[in-house]
Amino acid sequence: MLADKLEWDEQLLAKYNISGPRYTSYPTALEFNDDYTESDYITCLKALPDNKSLSLYIHVPFCQNICYYCACNKIITKDKSRAEKYVSYLLQEISLVAEHIGDNTLRQIHWGGGTPTYLSVEQISRIMSHIRECFVVPADETTEISIEIDPRALAIEDIEHLAALGFNRMSMGVQDFDLAVQKAVNRIQSFEMTRDMIEEARKYGFKSINLDLIYGLPLQTKQSFERTLEQVMQISPDRISVFNYAHLPDRFKPQRRIEDNKLPSAVEKMAIFQYIIENLQDNGYLYIGMDHFAKPDDELAIAQQNGCLHRNFQGYTTHEEYELIGVGVSSIGSVNSQYHQNVRDIESYYEALESHQLPIWRGVTVSNDDLVRKRVIFDLICHFELSIDSIESDYHIDFNNYFADELEMLAPFVADGLVKITSRDIQVTGRGRLLIRNICMLFDAYVNELHMINSFSKVI
Ligand code: SF4
Repeated sequence: MLADKLEWDEQLLAKYNISGPRYTSYPTALEFNDDYTESDYITCLKALPDNKSLSLYIHVPFCQNICYYCACNKIITKDKSRAEKYVSYLLQEISLVAEHIGDNTLRQIHWGGGTPTYLSVEQISRIMSHIRECFVVPADETTEISIEIDPRALAIEDIEHLAALGFNRMSMGVQDFDLAVQKAVNRIQSFEMTRDMIEEARKYGFKSINLDLIYGLPLQTKQSFERTLEQVMQISPDRISVFNYAHLPDRFKPQRRIEDNKLPSAVEKMAIFQYIIENLQDNGYLYIGMDHFAKPDDELAIAQQNGCLHRNFQGYTTHEEYELIGVGVSSIGSVNSQYHQNVRDIESYYEALESHQLPIWRGVTVSNDDLVRKRVIFDLICHFELSIDSIESDYHIDFNNYFADELEMLAPFVADGLVKITSRDIQVTGRGRLLIRNICMLFDAYVNELHMINSFSKVI
């Protein structure tokens, strides 16, 4: 299924380089609305049958220092006492959610942020114990418990404690090892610090270790990024995520600290991106899709090979599409195919929980059409192909009639060799893989020019 290797074609990349969603959900978060209320969410939770496998996402919004490229919803503070208050409300929210759910098992727990390791190991431990009181969490290797680690905000000895709490997967932000680049984005994190933390994690059995990199940052050059990738290869992570830096200082205040004239030119940025694509493949990494690479023996690559890769708000996931419960300020989840998001402001989060309410801000109730399109988009983005037969039989539609307009819009992609269409399937070629989001956008009923210009980053 994955025989087509990713192909670099600069002209086609330039031709199709428009803004588009990353499709961690469909519809995307832009369609969430505040008609969706706490009571809709509770109805979804109560409707979950017993013995469902669940995934839990825990959001910790705090960071100690600001990274200038950051576009996340976070709170920068050195006042650690704020964490204690947050933990007490998080525990309340977990109890409240559990009250509405029957006998279900957590198969996946993911801690993200902000910086989850802003919390002390004792605070993380208290939350994990509470989760185990509220849900069944099988104590075996198949239960994925992952955490985003900031090595600047965790003592190396604490890796052992995290392992003892059941953590077995991790992801770490690096972005770039070049000191000048790190200074320009206010994130100083040495190669040695990152390497030592990962070696320690491996010693305690952590698997599927991911490093995040960003290209397009100030002062980056192809040469400087070659050195960064050389160091990344010494660490040899199981997975690598490579994100395109989108400079939108009007929308994200921290980015105003980045001077426009320090950013790499479009030509330099393209050269860096090409180098990344070629270098990672030369070093044996497979392109999974949408910014993600993995070694062939990593769970992500194996899941893709076996046709069971899925996608949710954390990106690609190896499990079947579990119901996803989000807890913490601004967290997003998906239950019974509906999406929900908590309030983004921490005081409103506390107020809702103070009155024993789930802090739901908005969400979306998906239609049948959304479900069909989600399946098409997720099949393409996870597997680079879709079976027309299987969609017709699962959704009782005539694919060619239902998607007549979309198939017409696909014609230029076919002519450019990005996609192959037969009467029974659609396949994305090696040339089309870097442009997968553009292909998916053709099946997105909500995409319009305004969305594309204002809300998403470009492919490159
Ligand atoms: S990039 Fe991550 S660590 Fe840096 S400020 Fe944003 S959320 Fe915090």
